Order: sequence, then structure tokens, then C-alpha cells
Amino acid sequence: MTGRVLVLGGTGEARRLAGELLAAGVDVLSSLAGRVADPVLPAGEVRIGGFGGPEGLADWLTRHRPRAVVDATHPFAARITGSAARAAAATGTPLLRLQRPGWTPRPGDSWRFVDSLAGAAEAVAGCRSVFVTTGRQGAGAFAALPGRVLVRAVDPPDDPLPAGTTLLLARGPFSVADEVALMRAHAVDVVVTKDSGGQMTEAKLTAARELGLPVVLVRRPPLPPGMPAVATVEDAVTWVLRR
Ligand code: NAP
Repeated sequence: MTGRVLVLGGTGEARRLAGELLAAGVDVLSSLAGRVADPVLPAGEVRIGGFGGPEGLADWLTRHRPRAVVDATHPFAARITGSAARAAAATGTPLLRLQRPGWTPRPGDSWRFVDSLAGAAEAVAGCRSVFVTTGRQGAGAFAALPGRVLVRAVDPPDDPLPAGTTLLLARGPFSVADEVALMRAHAVDVVVTKDSGGQMTEAKLTAARELGLPVVLVRRPPLPPGMPAVATVEDAVTWVLRR
């Protein structure tokens, strides 16, 4: 078994974790899915591309024998998290989930939680101007919306988009002032987001509160049963250093 830690990444937390582990003298390999055309890379060594499901990841773990895996993928990246849980169990590899907390409403917020992107599309079907910030994947859930739809994503969605779409390609973080200006410019009357949590994309929620706009949030998928989890990069570093 080597001293290397595999960080399943694709998030700001994963990049921070890689940097902090390297600074603490831990050998780190970060793994990215390869979904984004021009990803922001973490410090240290990086591999890109899927493993081939839980079995492929289990094979990889058997061949490379990392001392631990930290799954720091996005809260909605449920497939890789499920793969990590199964592959770690099958190979006896220590596994930790690093997942930032979800958002909590504040006074003045008008939030509605739904279980899926399809549920979000249903919730906003009667709105005139919808701001969809749920990302490139799954954008097709909104294809039948009849009104104006502002779709923001890092890369263009592959799915068909609503007829009244304005596509905005942009990568956060965004400022509250810019979010307010954007929502005003497009006369947005409802915002749709995943409950991603974190500060990178939180400004849209503050902007919606300031403008008195409702927000529809897609609930997170549950973690695999029994998966140990921490909420901060600092706790993940401590866990790795104690191993
Ligand atoms: P997903 O549905 O859980 O994963 C789909 C497949 O992509 C996985 O089965 C795996 O392929 C591969 N994969 C995902 N993350 C990987 C990683 N870090 N390293 C190697 N392979 C990976 O994930 P997703 O929602 O498509 O997200 C893909 C990536 O984008 C993740 O790294 C995630 O952190 C990041 N991201 C996702 C979102 C989001 O809203 N979902 C937002 C921001 C960033 P194999 O089965 O072949 O191993």
C-alpha cells in the first residue's frame, strides 16, 4: 500500500483539499470526470476520465492501492459517490465523503424544495421568465417550458432547451450585484437551482431574496448508507493525517 490519497474531485473543495494535503506532505492524485471542456485543475497530479463503474474503480483501487479515497465530488454526483462506496467496501480501502452542507433559508426567502429536475420544471411551468442554474446536465428536463428561460451553465447543455431560451455560458463565483442585474435584465420571476450549498454560487440566492423572487431548489440525493462524511476541507485533512 502506497501513501497516496485518491481525491475524487470536480469541486472547489476537492481542489482545496488537494492543495492542503500536498502542503502537509501527503502524496495526492486528483481524479476528474472530464465533463468540463476547460476544467480548473487542482495542484498536484491529476487523472481524467471515468473508472468504468464500481467494478472499474475497484480494479483501479486494487492495482494502485491508495492509502485512502476522499470523495469530494459535487453533492449531486451520485453515481461516482455510489461507485466509490461499493469499490471501497469491495477492496477494503478507507473512504471518506467530503460534502459541503446544503443551503438553509433566511428570513425573506421564499424557497420550495422538490425532489428532481422534472419536479422543478413542473413547479415553474406557469412562470413567465425562469432562471435555470442547475448546470449543463439534465437541462432537458426544462425543454417543455413555454415561457422565457435563462439557462446558465459552464458549458453548453447537450439536451434540447426550451424554445424561449437565452443561454448564458459562465463559471462562478458571481457577485450579488451581478446576479441582481442579470435577474433584472431578464425580468426573471423565479430561480431554479440544485441545493449545491457553498459560497461559489450562493449569490443568486441573496439576489433572489433582495428582489423578492421565489426559488425552487432540487433536493440532494442521499449518501450511500453508512458512508462516513465530513463537511469541511479541514476535517477531511485531519481524517487523512490520522490514517
Ligand atoms: P456522476 O453522475 O456521479 O458520475 C457519472 C460518471 O462520471 C461516473 O459514473 C464516473 O464514471 C464519472 N465520474 C464522475 N466524477 C468523477 C471523478 N471525479 N473522477 C472520475 N470519474 C468520475 O457525476 P456528474 O454529476 O456527471 O459529475 C461529474 C463531475 O462534475 C464530478 O466530478 C462532479 O464533482 C463535478 N460536478 C458535478 C456537478 C453536478 O451538478 N452534478 C456540479 C459541479 C461539478 P465511471 O462510472 O466510468 O467511473
